[in-house]
Amino acid sequence: MFVDRAEILIKAGKGGDGAVSFHREKYVASGGPDGGDGGKGGSVIFVVDDNLSTLFDFRYKRKYVAEDGQKGSSNRKSGRKGQDLVIRVPRGTLIKEKESGAILADMSSGEPFTAACGGRGGWGNTHFATPTRQTPRFAKNGAPGESWEVVLELKLLADVGLIGFPNVGKSTLISVVSNAKPEIADYHFTTLTPVLGVVSLGEGEHFVMADIPGLIEGAGSGAGLGHEFLRHVERCRLLVHVLDAAGSEGRDPVEDFETINAELAQFNPELSSLPQIVAANKIDLASQEGLERLERYIKAKGCDFYPVCAPIGEGTKQLIRAVAAKLKTLPPVKVYESAAVPPELFEKRRNTGFSITVHDGTFFVEAEWLLGVMRRVDLNDYESLQYFQRLLVSSGIIGALEAKGIKQGDTVSIYDFEFEYVP
Ligand code: GDP
Ligand code: MG
Repeated sequence: MFVDRAEILIKAGKGGDGAVSFHREKYVASGGPDGGDGGKGGSVIFVVDDNLSTLFDFRYKRKYVAEDGQKGSSNRKSGRKGQDLVIRVPRGTLIKEKESGAILADMSSGEPFTAACGGRGGWGNTHFATPTRQTPRFAKNGAPGESWEVVLELKLLADVGLIGFPNVGKSTLISVVSNAKPEIADYHFTTLTPVLGVVSLGEGEHFVMADIPGLIEGAGSGAGLGHEFLRHVERCRLLVHVLDAAGSEGRDPVEDFETINAELAQFNPELSSLPQIVAANKIDLASQEGLERLERYIKAKGCDFYPVCAPIGEGTKQLIRAVAAKLKTLPPVKVYESAAVPPELFEKRRNTGFSITVHDGTFFVEAEWLLGVMRRVDLNDYESLQYFQRLLVSSGIIGALEAKGIKQGDTVSIYDFEFEYVP
């Protein structure tokens, strides 16, 4: 079964807590602090696996959680790091944040992508010893790991997409010109899964062709098959529009051509601006006048026209050569720009609240959503810092600090970020 969309939850591991511990040895009265740091939580990392061609595996497993980091312990021993969770996806998968729709990554280059960072381990009490505070009885908790609902969307990577009505001969064509072996049959919608084929031109030159399930009228408005498959041609550089030149089944190739193009435009106007080469198939059944009329019409529309008889390979060499030549003049396969998750989204998670603990004049603030904001804004940048400060006020954190009796000069510690409080 072909699955090209999935929604999953990913959650990185929490950092281990820092330890509170004091050095103890026989005959040594009271040693200094020796609590180790917690280990970092595991991250969730996506990688491309070229053995996969669908998102089928994600249908039944929805939650992907990386391991937590371990607690620190005495003797300055750090906790073990949590293991990363590696998720394999087919090449061409887009990873989107569900709520904002932001594209976090386009898994087409093969670069691994860390989608959720593991939480930092908390510092053990060793870090908090100062000349005036020799026995710090506190340590930091580990930070939570990031968590996202993501949408995985497969958009195949192909140079050329075949489009056309069902039964016009698309599957036959790709099976003759490429290494793909799709199902071919004399009834509609035999192709239920997009098929990729490599077309070799010799001397290492090749391109990738995609055969997608046939389009039907009304597909662009959601009726029947076709609509959802169109996203697999969105990355294509060129379309080969296959027509039944003989108009078998009582159809008219000119009408077919216009109907399919209207569907493309409705689905995504960018698709109809892609260059098209027309393959007029089934010329063995077509009349001479019919073929000439079709050729005139197509050429008047500004498209190249190649008559073929796919099953016996007649005309296919010329078609493939024309496609290869055209591809040389076109930009490479489209790769989607990735964006960061908008910071506003973290603000929305504000209802998860925050906690404040006080130790020796240091105010420790913990809030999962705030951690997310801090990872994404640059606190060395003035504007970002202003934004961050407004957030501290509007979320009620400053008010809560004041309620706990914070004074000028006290330290506020928010995970890795520390500052002196100025009223
Ligand atoms: P698709 O639905 O566009 O993928 O069409 P198929 O490749 O499955 O072909 C549909 C039917 O048309 C099959 O029975 C093919 O054998 C037949 N067919 C394909 N190309 C030609 C052709 O050039 N001439 C003739 N006579 N039949 C063809
Ligand atoms: Mg087919």
